[in-house]
Amino acid sequence: MTVGEVREKVERHGARAVARDAVAAIAEKDAKVGAFLEVFDDVQAQADAVDRRLAAGERLPLAGVPIALKDNILVRGKRVSAASRMLEGYVAPYDAHVVRRLKEAGAVLIGRTNCDEFAMGSSTEYSAFGPTKNPHDPSRVPGGSSGGSAAAVAAGMVPLALGSDTGGSIRQPASFCGVVGLKPTYGAVSRYGLIAMGSSLDVIGPFAATVADVALLYRTIAGHDPCDSTSLPPEGHPSRAHHERTHPLRIGVPRDLLGEGMDSRVAQVFEEALAALARRGHEVVDIALPAARHALAVYYIIMPAEASTNLARYDGVRYGLHVEGADLWEDYLRTRQEGFGPEVKRRILLGTYVLSAGYYDAYYRKAQKVRRAIRREFAAAFATVDVIATPTAPTPPFRLGEKRDPLSMYLADVFTVPANIAGIPALSLPMGSVEEGGASLPLGMQCMAAHRNEEVLFHIGEELEAHHAASR
Ligand code: GLN
Repeated sequence: MTVGEVREKVERHGARAVARDAVAAIAEKDAKVGAFLEVFDDVQAQADAVDRRLAAGERLPLAGVPIALKDNILVRGKRVSAASRMLEGYVAPYDAHVVRRLKEAGAVLIGRTNCDEFAMGSSTEYSAFGPTKNPHDPSRVPGGSSGGSAAAVAAGMVPLALGSDTGGSIRQPASFCGVVGLKPTYGAVSRYGLIAMGSSLDVIGPFAATVADVALLYRTIAGHDPCDSTSLPPEGHPSRAHHERTHPLRIGVPRDLLGEGMDSRVAQVFEEALAALARRGHEVVDIALPAARHALAVYYIIMPAEASTNLARYDGVRYGLHVEGADLWEDYLRTRQEGFGPEVKRRILLGTYVLSAGYYDAYYRKAQKVRRAIRREFAAAFATVDVIATPTAPTPPFRLGEKRDPLSMYLADVFTVPANIAGIPALSLPMGSVEEGGASLPLGMQCMAAHRNEEVLFHIGEELEAHHAASR
């Protein structure tokens, strides 16, 4: 389902009819998938308001287009929980910047999608409200943490969805579900109204079935916001940014990164996709990114450090859950004990450890140094290539319950984490599939580009799409 198709339907039948069909499609399909935590009760009223704006002659780029939001993005007056008991029943007091942009553009906010608790995880199994299933094979995970958003688009319930990406949470589920997902440049999209995980890494980004729709949604939500101190300055707004669509493209493949842990079928489909791009006239070259090998280790120091700090605010007094103890101290302890799930507690422990006196220099400060080296390494690489390509994930979607050991779950992000460490944009798009157990399991290719060069990603994405369309 594309935005163009939906907009045509809105023109013929009105936003009200489109919204009604979207809610019906979710009612029919989501029983098997479990992508949604809530379908909003005012969908029809939102659609009616869009119809009135259209009748008044307003031009709305997303008129009546249904969109799903990950359960860590605030919509004024709606519940938001980050899929955690800690925030069960919490109602958002204001709109996220991206939500304001969506409302202005005439989109219809359909509901909240499931995710790993506080966006920590790669399978959506760490949600306090039960897992989401992969629409291509319900015995498998949709990826995570934005698994609900990816699955909702993949199952054809909505044409658009938003997720957030701290270490891969948009790209890896996009890969597992066979849809397109973009992690924008850090700061290109405001974090105002996003429940914070790792504040120097977090970014909100789009999911859709096509590259063009991902680009459209990205342009709707990107731009400067004075409410986010790390928001990029106004000249970075996509409509004014200089658009670099060099053709043919020079595509760098970091062979040294791709060695360990990669499923051989993923490697084969990746090579085929590269060969297809080469046949379309693009140049594929090997590059080396020796520092990026350390990105996962750096990530698992910086992210828990920031997450443990961000999660300190959930004390049972100011937000959501409150568990009464004998005194204030015991209130804190019992609330945090009962409110947070095991993975969140693990990250708080890791983060508190690496920030503690005596370990700060050995871990946190050192990780920041390596982070700077990784940034420099990417900047240097983009002086010689337009795009860096890897598979999005080392494996096809895995089975529910398969990764019991936290470290094996962390390894699902080896290819996606470097872009967050460097702050650069990265796109995941379908590159093929593997057959297993009677199901066709999607695989994604990740393309990374230089700071703020989302345009080149849309270009290579459309090239790969054109190849798939031609070979169909
Ligand atoms: N899977 C990674 C983690 O668990 C990334 C999460 C994310 O990007 N929000 O930290």
